[in-house]
Amino acid sequence: MKLRSHPFELKLRHVFSVAHGTRSSVHSLIVSLSQNGHTGYGEATAIPYYGLDIGQMQQRLSQVQPAVEALPLTTPEELWEELRALLPEDPFLLCALDEAAHDLYGKLNGQAVYQRWGLALENLPLSNYTIGIASVEEMVEKMQAQPWPVYKIKLGTKDDLAIVRALREHTDAAFRIDANTAWTAEQAIRYAPELKALGVEFIEQPLRADDWEGMKRVFAQSALPVIADESCQVEADIARCQGFFHGVNIKLMKCGGLTPARRMVDQARQLGMQVMVGCMTESSVGISAVAQLLPLLDYVDMDGAMLLSNDPAEGVKLTDGKAVFPNRPGTGVALKEDVV
Ligand code: MG
Repeated sequence: MKLRSHPFELKLRHVFSVAHGTRSSVHSLIVSLSQNGHTGYGEATAIPYYGLDIGQMQQRLSQVQPAVEALPLTTPEELWEELRALLPEDPFLLCALDEAAHDLYGKLNGQAVYQRWGLALENLPLSNYTIGIASVEEMVEKMQAQPWPVYKIKLGTKDDLAIVRALREHTDAAFRIDANTAWTAEQAIRYAPELKALGVEFIEQPLRADDWEGMKRVFAQSALPVIADESCQVEADIARCQGFFHGVNIKLMKCGGLTPARRMVDQARQLGMQVMVGCMTESSVGISAVAQLLPLLDYVDMDGAMLLSNDPAEGVKLTDGKAVFPNRPGTGVALKEDVV
């Protein structure tokens, strides 16, 4: 296999704010693995919350490049074990390589990833469209600029309930709330009944990632299901979330790719939890990988590429919340011509 990486600055259509801060662009590393005339693509992005920058990621990748290129692509899952031994502390890079391996393997065998897993594109959950923290006027404007069946609303302000009440006056769409760790247990328990009455489906990560004592109370008393995001990063976290969250939001970059994500979905199901897969601000390279898991999910948040003004790739797209798959093997992704 040949390994290449391409840094790319993803520009956001709108400045985007969440409880941790504000951004207008995101640095992404698109990774490719090539063999026998086919190339598979994967993606990792720099996320300040997780303390990573693209320069360090590229350096790390160049250190392991000879070892990665010497590995055989028997199956993506077997390759993942070898890659993890090379990159034990780098789930983002592991994710990019694992996505590329799944894409390449599918291209070599003329099969989409979901087909190889025995899944069919039936009863797929709708993806939400995310509205970042802004003034109510701006949030309403963003909703009206993008009519959608379900919105994820980022909260963590002084007046979160008032925001949801105000948005409800402008749409009948379903809402999901992501507090990104900004609330206390008391706030989450107090807000939940009114949020439920306002058409909210669930609350994502209301409390700090380490506030397990608070989550125990929220889990027992919340009128709405509570989904772990910052509290659920890697495979071992699924079991930890049982009894504290009703479901988990699995992200490929946090856990290290499609290979562990599939196992996490199965484990969460066995433990009776709801399953969501989320995304970062990432291009159609990463989003097309996320989409392969859709038949297994209750909820999905895969609007990352929609928020960009310069998506470097084409792949699985969203139309009115529905995923539209291209007729291509692997993850379905293709880079736009001028990118590499
Ligand atoms: Mg979240």
